[in-house]
Amino acid sequence: MEEKKRILTGDRPTGRLHIGHYFGSIQNRVKLQDEYETYILVADVQALTDNFNNPEKVRKNVREVVIDYLSCGINPEKTTIYIQSMIPETAELTVFYSNLVTIARLERNPTVKTEIAQKKALFGESVTYGFLGYPVSQAADITILDGNIIPVGEDQEPLIEQCREIVRKFNSIYGEVLREPQALLSKAKRIKGLDGNEKMGKSLGNAIYISDSEEEISKKVMSAVTDPNRIRKDDLGNPDVCMVSYYHKLFSTEEECKTVCEECRAGKRGCVVCKKQLINNIVEFLRPIREKRAYYEAHPEIVDKILMEGTAKAQLEAKRIMKKIKKAMKLDYFE
Ligand code: SF4
Repeated sequence: MEEKKRILTGDRPTGRLHIGHYFGSIQNRVKLQDEYETYILVADVQALTDNFNNPEKVRKNVREVVIDYLSCGINPEKTTIYIQSMIPETAELTVFYSNLVTIARLERNPTVKTEIAQKKALFGESVTYGFLGYPVSQAADITILDGNIIPVGEDQEPLIEQCREIVRKFNSIYGEVLREPQALLSKAKRIKGLDGNEKMGKSLGNAIYISDSEEEISKKVMSAVTDPNRIRKDDLGNPDVCMVSYYHKLFSTEEECKTVCEECRAGKRGCVVCKKQLINNIVEFLRPIREKRAYYEAHPEIVDKILMEGTAKAQLEAKRIMKKIKKAMKLDYFE
């Protein structure tokens, strides 16, 4: 019988989700949940690795992120959504795995190296043990639920490779217990920020959130970076350097995008009109999502029930897998 494929994925609850998350991962998860058994973890423990001094922020965003999932079409009938910290076996497994990976290997991990460099303001010259070790706990997250398909962007692939190494080492010592996960490389590109930055992010102040109101969307798009050489409407423009044109490609029809580019290059389109058209398209695109969001915001008990049921299901599965792991490690006393 063919092995059932199980997707494991998740987000750190450090803020509401923005359209970069939507096009980068959520849209894909909504499709994948029909094909695979899907688990999504709300990674509160991982969020604490660089927010350890701000636990309120992490707690508050757990429900926000889940509301974003549900609003975007993640279906709790098909997808198990659960809270990372409520699976204590993950912490236990992280300790077991910490014997199977060297500090030098963690320091060489390209994803970790990049992230440490980005968080210099928080860590200074000396990174915490918890942050350096997060690929180990991520390997525990994946394997404690037997996740074997892990959707990632290219920049996250080294984390999956690290997990595969840990699994191979574990199996070579204790027997073939764990399944090696496979990275499912996302074809979705990273969405740029309103300011033209390669990355959209809360800390960068350049994001459009799934939950933004019409007024917020309008204000943000009106301040988006356009072709700096265009002062008057009849100046010949270059849509290739304009963020408004970039977002038209995400939210407008092909026909509209063609017209935007042609009229901009010919100096026949004003930037204000161009932005208003984009605002309208974003608002219409997000309308059904926002309507669902309003429903879940008004019914937090439904959100909590979904999270509680998902977490209970994940807990049972983690217990079952930990039993196998402990047996293989000769830690199954009194059984
Ligand atoms: Fe950008 Fe539109 Fe202005 Fe051209 S007309 S620079 S595409 S906002």
